Amino acid sequence: MARGNAIRILRQVTVATLAAAFAGGTLLGNVRVAAWEEPLWVTVYPAVAGERAATAEFVDRLTAADFEPIAAFVAREAQRYGLPLDRPIRIELGDAAAVPPAPPVGAGPVGIAWWSLRLRFWAWRQLSGRPGPAPDIRLFTVFHDPIEGVALPHSLGLEKARIGIAHVFASRRMQGSNRVVITHELLHTLGATDKYGPDNLPRYPDGYAEPARRPLYPQRYAEIMGGRIPVSAERADIPRSLRQVRIGPLTAQEINWPVADGGG
Ligand SMILES: [Zn+2]
Repeated sequence: MARGNAIRILRQVTVATLAAAFAGGTLLGNVRVAAWEEPLWVTVYPAVAGERAATAEFVDRLTAADFEPIAAFVAREAQRYGLPLDRPIRIELGDAAAVPPAPPVGAGPVGIAWWSLRLRFWAWRQLSGRPGPAPDIRLFTVFHDPIEGVALPHSLGLEKARIGIAHVFASRRMQGSNRVVITHELLHTLGATDKYGPDNLPRYPDGYAEPARRPLYPQRYAEIMGGRIPVSAERADIPRSLRQVRIGPLTAQEINWPVADGGG
């Protein structure tokens, strides 16, 4: 018992020490990221899941233009909140990367902390030796075969590490909804929290783009961290593109945008 505790404490101390060492390198970056005084540099690193040649060919044909609508979306929403920056983010397409290590299934906080450190180390190794300065935010975007009815691994975004992992489909037709997933993870890296329940339904009111709309249903837009467009109290649809998505006031506040008191 005591020995188990000692090992657990030792692991926690090690995690804390390693985390502090990593944080030293990213602290200044985080201050800069939160300030919104100059555009943030976001790089998307595509990765190929599986062995199918078509997936690799799809990734080969990607260009920065495939991700530009994400920057345009953030610019449009920032303007609604009066952020004094024309282009809050600059998005670039990086060279292909490997598929990032998956988070441990059913792990507790310590397991997740370990995995998060491993992921940071993995990302550092993936990108070390690449020319040029490091981007503010790194988005590893894993492209999967678009197989009907197959669920993708969970996407996630780590705020302190400023690393996002998005799992998307290698399909032209899905690029609109892919960009919604990538943008959701991007906003996680900036401090935004999820606004949907365990049933995948957006939480009212913060997960709704227009919570004051009457009648309430159907909603016209998805709130980016609510994830889906509530069409009734029981059903919410996946947005087909960022044109069907808004950033709600709570998310805006979480990513440090100016939100007027009582505004909404
Ligand atoms: Zn999320």
